[in-house]
Amino acid sequence: MNAPSYGSLPAPSKIVCVGRNYAAHARELGNRVPDRPLLFLKAPSALLAPGQPILLPPDSARVEHEGEIALVIGRRARHVAAEEAMAVVAGFAPLNDVTARDLQRLDVQFTRAKSYDTFCPLGPMVPATEVDWRDLEVECRVNGELRQHGWSADMVFPFPALLAFITRVMTLEPGDLVATGTPEGVGPLVQGDRVEVRVPGVGAVENPVRNEA
Ligand code: ZN
Repeated sequence: MNAPSYGSLPAPSKIVCVGRNYAAHARELGNRVPDRPLLFLKAPSALLAPGQPILLPPDSARVEHEGEIALVIGRRARHVAAEEAMAVVAGFAPLNDVTARDLQRLDVQFTRAKSYDTFCPLGPMVPATEVDWRDLEVECRVNGELRQHGWSADMVFPFPALLAFITRVMTLEPGDLVATGTPEGVGPLVQGDRVEVRVPGVGAVENPVRNEA
């Protein structure tokens, strides 16, 4: 697995993603704002370290960036109450939920569109004690141009509600990642681009984009 490791935390057993968690992004894709979190999984084999190339598969004609704030789980969690949920978070990291948009629309569900190798660039983690999670920002730039910008305060379901909802379903393990959704402004990536997801106060992950040989 070609991914950064965070101190003593193990590699993630799963990457839990949240769809349509910013109202403006749901609308830009023609979706209603959901009345409950929309969860899907991304394969951990998609993880990619900063600086490594995102590979555009020949199966897709439309691969897009999704800049997101990732929660890194620090301890096992099952049925956590929202009020206690942030205690299971070890830290925050920038994550790019790269998506083959045409395949996402074509398939009944998201597994293929979200899980090509290299489709999950992940940046450095900052410990949860060092940032105010209520006031995090995420930005995505392509070739230096700002394409996406959002605030954690603008999420439809904030972090504690997401963790309570997810752990009603599945146990979160140390090292697991929760990708908390993307703000409006998603758009295509093409060969030769450089894409950067930055969470100010946390860090950035930047990757070049190449056609898969
Ligand atoms: Zn996403």
